[in-house]
Amino acid sequence: EPVSVDRIINEAFDQTRITAEKKGIELKSMGVTGAEVLGNDTQLVTAVKNLVGNAIAYSPEGTSVEVTVSVCRPEGSVAKSETICIAVRDQGIGIAADELDRIFERFYRIDAARSRATGGTGLGLAIVKHTAVNHGGRVEVSSMPEAGSVFTLMLPARSLPSDTAAPDSDEIGTTEDVVC
Ligand code: ATP
Ligand code: MG
Repeated sequence: EPVSVDRIINEAFDQTRITAEKKGIELKSMGVTGAEVLGNDTQLVTAVKNLVGNAIAYSPEGTSVEVTVSVCRPEGSVAKSETICIAVRDQGIGIAADELDRIFERFYRIDAARSRATGGTGLGLAIVKHTAVNHGGRVEVSSMPEAGSVFTLMLPARSLPSDTAAPDSDEIGTTEDVVC
């Protein structure tokens, strides 16, 4: 079924707003509107919710979490269909380069996270990756310790916004990109 990307983000924000408010974290969305992808709306909302939830959980109080939608062409891609990129950017603790390729594994948590009082299970990102791949897409991460992270969910576009802005490709730092 066609799913509105705007709706996915609004739903994900609705499901994380209370947690964000408790930490004084502002949720912002920007970029193109009116894009659609093909797939399961519940799974897609859960994927974005997991990314926004992580951004909140692994950031200090008073920071902001930005979700940016763009029409993007993955590096080296020769696919004919356009890709919708949903980038979730935080100003949080970041992830060390040598952990980047492990965080998508089931139950994997970085030590600092594992010892947190309020714990998760380490499944959130495995679910995001699974959902991305199931929808013909993928997920990438770019991060710098103590500066923040950007997780980008890439999905084949079903329909594009009428006003297709140029992809915004600025990134936090330059540690390493991991493609899943
Ligand atoms: P849950 O199953 O409740 O989501 P979790 O958040 O620990 O538990 P994942 O979402 O899979 O599990 O994330 C795995 C690990 O990756 C986290 O434990 C954390 O160490 C790290 N991580 C994920 N997102 C971020 C982020 N935005 N900033 C810093 N570290 C992150
Ligand atoms: Mg999580």
